[in-house]
Amino acid sequence: SIVTRFAPSPTGYLHVGGARTALYSWLYSKKMGGKFILRIEDTDLERSTQASVDAILQGMDWLGLDWDDGPYYQTKRFDLYKEVIQQLLDAGKAYKCFCTIEELDQMREAQMAAGEKPRYNGMWRDRTDHPTDKPYVIRFKNPQDGTVVIDDLIKGRIEIANKELDDLIIARTDGSPTYNLTVVVDDWKMGITHVIRGDDHVNNTPRQMNILAALGAQIPHYAHVPMILGDDGKRLSKRHGAVGVMQYRDNGFLPEALLNYLVRLGWSHGDQEIFSKTELVELFDLKNCNRAPSAFNTEKLIWLNQHYIKTLPVERVAAELEWHLQDQQLDTSKGPAITEVIKVQADRVKTLKELVQVSRYFYEDFTAFDEASAKKHLRPVAAEALQRVQQKLSTLADWTAEAIHQAIQATAEELELGMGKVGMPIRVAVSGAGNSPSLELTLALVGRERALSRLDMALA
Ligand code: GLU
Repeated sequence: SIVTRFAPSPTGYLHVGGARTALYSWLYSKKMGGKFILRIEDTDLERSTQASVDAILQGMDWLGLDWDDGPYYQTKRFDLYKEVIQQLLDAGKAYKCFCTIEELDQMREAQMAAGEKPRYNGMWRDRTDHPTDKPYVIRFKNPQDGTVVIDDLIKGRIEIANKELDDLIIARTDGSPTYNLTVVVDDWKMGITHVIRGDDHVNNTPRQMNILAALGAQIPHYAHVPMILGDDGKRLSKRHGAVGVMQYRDNGFLPEALLNYLVRLGWSHGDQEIFSKTELVELFDLKNCNRAPSAFNTEKLIWLNQHYIKTLPVERVAAELEWHLQDQQLDTSKGPAITEVIKVQADRVKTLKELVQVSRYFYEDFTAFDEASAKKHLRPVAAEALQRVQQKLSTLADWTAEAIHQAIQATAEELELGMGKVGMPIRVAVSGAGNSPSLELTLALVGRERALSRLDMALA
C-alpha cells in the first residue's frame, strides 16, 4: 500500500506552491487507497514559528486536505535522528570531521584558484587520529564511484555521478541533525513510498537516496513537481500578490475553485477544466503532470471561482460566505435568508468578497443614493412613477416577486413609459445604486417595509 506525505517547513504561511504539492500527494494517496502523512519540518529553530504551523494547518483544513497520520513534528524526533546517526557512524558509513572554518575556507580558496568547483575534499573521511577535545561535525560517507539514478515519475530519468556529490554534513557541532538527514530518516521510518515534492529539492534527492541505501532502507519513488511561475515568467513569489492560500480565502475565493485551479496548474486530463474532488481522486495521475513550469493565471482562477459560486449548492456557498460576512461586518439577522441573496447574486459576482459588498442593501439602510445613479435616474420626472408604484406596492396583498412585477408593469402602462424608464428609478431608490439583480427579485428580498421607506427617501 502506498504512503505519501506533505512535509512543509513552518517558516511562513501555506503558499500556493506548497498547497499544490500537498494536493498532489493527497490525491495520489486517495487514488491509490493509501495513506497521506503530514510532517512538520521544524528543525530550523530560528525560522520556524508556531504561527506558521497554525497557518499551514489552517490552509490544509480550508482546502479540505485531511491527513491520515500526523502531524509529526521533527523537533520531537531528535532521539531517533541521533540513533540513526550513531548507527551510520558505527557502520563506518559516516565519520567525524574536525575541520575548522579556517581550514574549510582555505580548501575553498585553493579549489577556486585551481578553477575547481568548491567542495569538501573528504580530508577526515579515513582518518583515525581523532582529537578528543575539538568540536566536530558528522559527515555521510558518500560513495565515490558510480551514479545515482532517479526514475522520476514526472521528470523521467535523472542521473548524477557520485563524484559530483561531496560528503554531506548530517550532524552539526552541537549534534543536531541536518535537513537531509531528518528527511531521510522520516521518509524511511514513516514508510513513505512516494515522495511528491517541489523540484527545488531535486538536487537533494541523490544525496538522500545514497543515505537511504546506506541504511538499507527501501528507496521511495520520487516525483518532482515543476515550480509555479508568475505572469512575468519568474518564480511565483510574494511580489506577484496573493500567494498565501488563506489570502485567497480573504479575497473571496472558494476552496473548490482554488483546488480545481491548482490541480490543473501542472496536470491535465484531456482538455477538461472542471473537476470535482471525487473526479480528481479517480482521474489524477502523476503520469499526466507537466514537466515544464506552469504560469499562474489569475483570470482562470476567477473564471473557476465564478463557476463554483454559480454551481455549488447554495448552502455550501453560504457556509463559506460566513467568514466574509463577519469580515465585512454585515449583520444578516435582519433581512432575507442569505441563501436567497446568494441565488440572485451568484451569477453577478466574481468573488465572495464582492458578493457581500454588493449585497449590503438587503440588510442595511443607507443614508444617501449613489450620486451618479441618482443624478441619472432620480430626476423629477421619475417622481410620478415612484409615487404610483409606491402606492401600488403598499397595498399589495402578497409581497411576492410576481405581484411586485405586476405593480411595476401596471405603473409603466399607466404612464405609457417603458419598463426601463420606470424600473431604473425604483432600482436606484431601493438598492441605492443602478446595479442589482432583477427588480422584482430585489424588491421581494429587500422586503416591503424597507422598500417603501426607501421610495419615501427617494421622493423626499
Ligand atoms: N520541508 C521541505 C520544504 O518545505 C520539504 C522537504 C520535502 O518535501 O522533502 O521545502
